Amino acid sequence: MPELPEIEALAAFLRERAVRRVVVRSDVAAFSAVKTFDPPLTAINGLTVTGAGRYGKFLDLEIDGLHLITHLSRGGWLQWREKLSPVPPKPGRGPLAFRLHLAPAEDDPDDATAGFDLTEAGTQKRLAVYLVRDPMDVPGIARLGPDAMRVSLDEFAEVLGGQRGQLKGVLTTQSVIGGIGNAYSDEILHAARLSPFAIAARLSPDQVGTLYQAMRDTLTDAVQRSVGQKAATLKSEKRSGLAVHARTGLPCPVCGDTVREVSFADKSLQYCPTCQTGGKNLADRRLSRLVK
Ligand SMILES: [Zn+2]
Repeated sequence: MPELPEIEALAAFLRERAVRRVVVRSDVAAFSAVKTFDPPLTAINGLTVTGAGRYGKFLDLEIDGLHLITHLSRGGWLQWREKLSPVPPKPGRGPLAFRLHLAPAEDDPDDATAGFDLTEAGTQKRLAVYLVRDPMDVPGIARLGPDAMRVSLDEFAEVLGGQRGQLKGVLTTQSVIGGIGNAYSDEILHAARLSPFAIAARLSPDQVGTLYQAMRDTLTDAVQRSVGQKAATLKSEKRSGLAVHARTGLPCPVCGDTVREVSFADKSLQYCPTCQTGGKNLADRRLSRLVK
């Protein structure tokens, strides 16, 4: 699942490649992905792309005062195309959800027609596209907590102080802190040497400071590695930088202990017992529920 660093990198990529180009048209291949109808998608045809940015894990393409906003969700991705077929795709088949055709930039006569595909792997179709006049018209953006890359230490301490849940859940709840998902929350907790099951509101001021620094360092490092990567190589760049996430059974790069996993109904978390839980194995909740 793309998180803050990958979305930041996609926004940087679009600033370089899409800005100044004129929208030719959009093709919708998965009608369920489009969440808004006013303004209609045809409203962007003929308008110039003016910017690209990020709200939490939402990608924002600014088109002359309108915002084409995408939430890639779990299996979604953006694929830049130097050449796009002018033939509209057949709806409802394959991973393609949405396609944007962009004309060459006016001041760059060598440019060809290009654009991007929004695709979604798997059977759960949750990729979402919104065309709005104000990003705050997207409910998921209006609900976002402070951004993980912009929150101050004081604000972060205040936010955590009000949360009685476990750190893993708190860090990944977008209305609490925006931008962090399953992978980077594992990485941040590992860097902070904190248990994913520690209760947020019970952290000492020192632990909050350590967690804050780990969050900033982990995300800054990931953004630096991701920005400048082509959209196509972002996923492997993300994988190569991970210490514990998706590394069950492999050695922890810090202490050499074996990375462990806790499974939930539809996801899992990874952690290092020596670094994070005083050597203790955390209960597998799915298993312990069966045993009871
Ligand atoms: Zn370790």
